[in-house]
Amino acid sequence: MAIAKKTPAEIVTQRFEYAPAPEATEHVKVEPRYSLFIGGRMLEPHSKKRFPTINPATEEQLSEVAEADEVDVDHAVVAADKAFGPWSRLSPSRRARYLFRISRLIQERARELAVVETMDGGKPIKESRDVDIPLAAAHFFYYAGWADKLDWAFPNRKPRPLGVAGQVIPWNFPLLMLAWKIAPALAAGNTVVLKPAETTPLSAMLFADICRQAELPPGTVNIVTGAGKTGSLVVSHPGVRKVAFTGSTEVGKLIQRSLAGSGKRLTLELGGKAANIVFEDAPLDAAVEGIVNGIYFNQGHVCCAGSRLLVQESIAEPLLEKLKVRLSTLRLGDPLDKNTDIGAINSKAQLEKIEGMVASGIEEGAEIYQPECKLPDRGYWFKPTLFTNVSQSYRIAREEIFGPVLSVLTFRTPAEAVEKANNTPYGLSAGVWTDKGSRILWMAERMRAGVVWANTFNRFDPSSPFGGYKESGFGREGGLHGLLPYLELN
Ligand code: NAD
Ligand code: MN
Repeated sequence: MAIAKKTPAEIVTQRFEYAPAPEATEHVKVEPRYSLFIGGRMLEPHSKKRFPTINPATEEQLSEVAEADEVDVDHAVVAADKAFGPWSRLSPSRRARYLFRISRLIQERARELAVVETMDGGKPIKESRDVDIPLAAAHFFYYAGWADKLDWAFPNRKPRPLGVAGQVIPWNFPLLMLAWKIAPALAAGNTVVLKPAETTPLSAMLFADICRQAELPPGTVNIVTGAGKTGSLVVSHPGVRKVAFTGSTEVGKLIQRSLAGSGKRLTLELGGKAANIVFEDAPLDAAVEGIVNGIYFNQGHVCCAGSRLLVQESIAEPLLEKLKVRLSTLRLGDPLDKNTDIGAINSKAQLEKIEGMVASGIEEGAEIYQPECKLPDRGYWFKPTLFTNVSQSYRIAREEIFGPVLSVLTFRTPAEAVEKANNTPYGLSAGVWTDKGSRILWMAERMRAGVVWANTFNRFDPSSPFGGYKESGFGREGGLHGLLPYLELN
């Protein structure tokens, strides 16, 4: 029996309507105000200052967190320094036990953490629930496993911890970035002062409570909140032996400059402008899912987002038609709703940045496509957007937008694909879609990107190292490689 083939437009009208399915929030207790987690206790900030953190989907204030000043940061580093001796001398299997305990507690409190992550940052609950929180727990589990095996990880090299690690993280994956920073540092025997991003401090405050529940020795982990000024106080403190930063390339360069000659170890995980490359022999429907996951996951607030689609000219038309249909089925709205695909933009400032970049794309001559979709009245929102007719010189093809905006370019030969993919100051990630294994290997060898995904995108595993080339930074997080920045090898 012949099955009638539906046109893409007919598929769109087939879109299912779901009743609202909001995740419950009653079980979550957010304090009206938080202090600083220093030496195992919540301490009033010396600065006496606090600032609000809001829910970007509603613009409502969720809580107030402390703004750590120079004295506060010094307290935190002194506490971490004091804890370093005992922590680094603790038997490695005991250290592992604390890390296992932390990962178990993250799992136990996963629902609470997911809801807080979504309320504070605007990401869809299905992502915080299924990606952020499970991966954060997995990261602690993974590094717990290494804690008592460092001598086997680096045979005959006598690995030794460095001291206090100063760590500064961004707002796009708050708890996961915290896990990427804290887990390897502790497993290697270091102690930590961490500063979360100013728009998403709440999951780090819950993590402070998890450290307390795990009975982690006081001062092993310290968490200071604040904005850029507090971050610069953490990285420049003379008691800090190792700095780990994830965020913008601009701030990364500032930090690298300020640390020159200090003898501090440094790793930087910065921006990206990844190419997602689709060859004519790729399974198109799977590629469409990969493209959507690559750039619309977490509203495109992803450093390794596939923000440049490079599609082989021969299939550009059918692929774009499929992609546009798929965009019109994405559900934008309440991040706490379990059916939501696209949540809120993290902050007003980020929304303005995205709007500015999109305006530049239109002005430079690119053609914009946005599906019909209604934006909520309050909060910060941006429709999933794609640009065709993009030239490599346009800002939307060169600069990181960090929003749900895709720039589409075409190519004819594999060599042209490689050249265009590498034509960027960044080098964090890339995707290749093709039926041929040999082509995947050929491409991966030629691309200057820390991660190359083949027939998939945005896949993470704690055992797999992640990091960049060029202006995407240096150093690796995850895997055995992720331990190296926290160890001295003799
Ligand atoms: P940012 O680099 O300003 O902020 C990241 C973190 O660094 C935050 O915790 C911030 O408080 C802190 N910080 C700011 N200035 C500092 C300084 N001088 N010294 C030490 N710490 C400092 O990033 P942003 O303003 O939040 O976002 C701007 C752009 O950065 C985004 O549009 C995006 O392009 C990029 N970004 C990249 C990532 C990533 O994962 N690679 C994450 C967030 C933002
Ligand atoms: Mn917030």
